[in-house]
Amino acid sequence: MISVEKALKTILTKAKTLNSETVRLWDSLNRVTAMDIYSGMNVPAFDNSAMDGYALKAPDTRGASKEKRKTLRITEEIKAGSIAKNSLKAGQAIRIMTGAPIPKGADSVVMVEDTKTEGGYVEVFKEAARQDNIRKRGEDIKKGEMVIGRGTLIKSAHMGVLASLGSSSVRVTERPRIAFLATGDELVDVRRKITPGKLHSSNTYSLYSQISSCGGIPKDLGISKDRPVELAAKIRKGLDCDMILTSGGVSVGDHDLVKPVLAKMGTDIKFWKVAMRPGKPLAFGLLENVLVFGLPGNPVSSMVSFEIFVRPAILKMLGRRDDRLDGIDAVLEERIIKRKGVRYFLRAKTRWGNGVFMTRTTGAQGSGILRSMALANSLIILPEDCENAEKGEKVKIRFLE
Ligand code: AMP
Ligand code: MG
Repeated sequence: MISVEKALKTILTKAKTLNSETVRLWDSLNRVTAMDIYSGMNVPAFDNSAMDGYALKAPDTRGASKEKRKTLRITEEIKAGSIAKNSLKAGQAIRIMTGAPIPKGADSVVMVEDTKTEGGYVEVFKEAARQDNIRKRGEDIKKGEMVIGRGTLIKSAHMGVLASLGSSSVRVTERPRIAFLATGDELVDVRRKITPGKLHSSNTYSLYSQISSCGGIPKDLGISKDRPVELAAKIRKGLDCDMILTSGGVSVGDHDLVKPVLAKMGTDIKFWKVAMRPGKPLAFGLLENVLVFGLPGNPVSSMVSFEIFVRPAILKMLGRRDDRLDGIDAVLEERIIKRKGVRYFLRAKTRWGNGVFMTRTTGAQGSGILRSMALANSLIILPEDCENAEKGEKVKIRFLE
């Protein structure tokens, strides 16, 4: 039996960041940048007006007020997208719309609310200072600046930034393909009726969504009976992927065939028991360069093992650098009985209260009780050396997605 720390380290040394590919900007949401992205231009590309109003020379408005209006002659009007024909001279104003380039000779914009138009003239009743209501060239992004670092998960704002830089495509890491297989004579697909003694394979669906949610491409290998030949054949179907996950059949029962079958297929098994709860049985190894995880069958154990071991491996394959998987401090709202020497992960609801995170379990913690997982937004992590945790104690938690 090895520690969670050691198990994770072993896994991460075997998980390698995948190659990169170019995708259309449209398709880049939730992908991971494969390189640092530098700006080839200034954003905005030119000084422009932040307001609808009048571009003018600030000195022409000196002393202007409601009572003492300054009158300027309007020479033209520019909308966003067009450029002024003439440069602005003293005593003149140019009607300007938000986003239109500041005309030559103008040094400020007075917003329309501080003016009144009268024929071809504008009365200004507010003094302007130089640069008022002007958005400076490059004030958002400067040419040559690094804007998005390698390993960043592309979200809506990143897509907007890339579009503003004129990037219609982006270099991202390939998504890892992850095969998953449920094992057990008792399992029935959700589309079929269950007969006495059988149950629906919930792991099929929780694994599918965990894989998808962290950026992998799931490949469903279905359900295998506890029969070595079928098991091996189904596992082999996952060898065109980057990773294979099995669930169930990995403890020490008479029908727990996953480990012997994997071994017989030539898997280099690195470990198969981890000092944690839930989820002690967990086989990990390499089969023809494919990372293989024999996850425990109990629905919560399967999900928690995925969170603790598989997710970090997938994030590493994706080259993610922005994800925080280390614990966050929270105050425990109840007493928890714990055995020393094993790391506990408890399903919990964590909320912000009185300037700290407060956390409490979501109910029964049996490894088959999926409901308390569905109610949880986090896991409380109690380290190996901890023995019972008291109410009010500071603990580490990790948010689930
Ligand atoms: P095992 O490790 O195969 O003995 O499975 C442990 C427990 O998890 C048993 O009660 C199984 O019925 C259950 N189990 C295994 N695989 C699944 C699955 N895919 N969906 C739901 N429960 C499962
Ligand atoms: Mg089983």
